Amino acid sequence: MADLRIDCHMHLYETKAAGRREKATYQIWEYGTKDDVVFSPLDGDIEDAEAAMTGAGFDHAVIANLFAVALLDDVLRSASIEVQAERLVAFNRWACEVAATRRQLTVFVAADPTVLGGDPGAAHLREMVEHHGAKGIKIHPVVQRFMPDDPRIHPIYQACVELGIAVLSHAGSARTGAAYAEPRAFANVVRKFPDLRLVLAHLGGGAWRQTAAFADAFPQVSFDLCEIIAWTGAPNAPTSSELAKLILDIGPQRVMLGTDFPWYDLADTANRVMDLPLLSDEQKIGILGANAARILRLPLPLGSPTANP
Ligand SMILES: [Zn+2]
Repeated sequence: MADLRIDCHMHLYETKAAGRREKATYQIWEYGTKDDVVFSPLDGDIEDAEAAMTGAGFDHAVIANLFAVALLDDVLRSASIEVQAERLVAFNRWACEVAATRRQLTVFVAADPTVLGGDPGAAHLREMVEHHGAKGIKIHPVVQRFMPDDPRIHPIYQACVELGIAVLSHAGSARTGAAYAEPRAFANVVRKFPDLRLVLAHLGGGAWRQTAAFADAFPQVSFDLCEIIAWTGAPNAPTSSELAKLILDIGPQRVMLGTDFPWYDLADTANRVMDLPLLSDEQKIGILGANAARILRLPLPLGSPTANP
């Protein structure tokens, strides 16, 4: 059997138009400029997602949807918090419904402490996990504009600990210079919630130079390599050797392949992992899928996740 291929960080949109809109609105600036970044030509509805997975031979994907008021058009953005909360709930229900009939998809529901934080946010999460099959949450402190240890999200983290589910957070720099999602901003979260199963995306993104020390201080945290692996060699991104060295410093068994689809291409990302210098084939194969199966406790129809070294 071929090695497991799992994408631990994909986005799914209700329509192609919605995906196209968010791709056009979301700015990727923190690595500087690079001419030959390979972006996915797809928009990210379910048809696109399934075609991308099949085309690249992926067995499973985690839908880690972003809910960001800041990225909405003017009309939707000006709605009340109550309306935004209803939209967040509906968006999460929709994602779980799509995944319910597809064993190759796992959903991490969107959480946003401004829109639906505190106990109501935790109650919504419990409902999504206990009755709709969600297996984690996704947060984006930069676009959602909150610090990761904001008390409004503590009840949500606490629910994640009690439910045994993961938190996938965007990680990276903010244009304002605020620490929002730099690795160091998560230190207090891990200290307060040592049993939280935290995953930092993009290996720290534009703040990747903090990641090795953070990973060393907090061995329970895992990472995904989406986006940053497509930007290697850009002015504020690592070279591929520096990226491989960072993965070795962290421990390759703690790093998972993600693509941030529909931004990046699944096959291209898998090829980039296999092309990394310094890492052994066994370490790369773990990154391609087995690590995610183990770390995220995915309900896989294929393979034997616990047999990974
Ligand atoms: Zn993402």
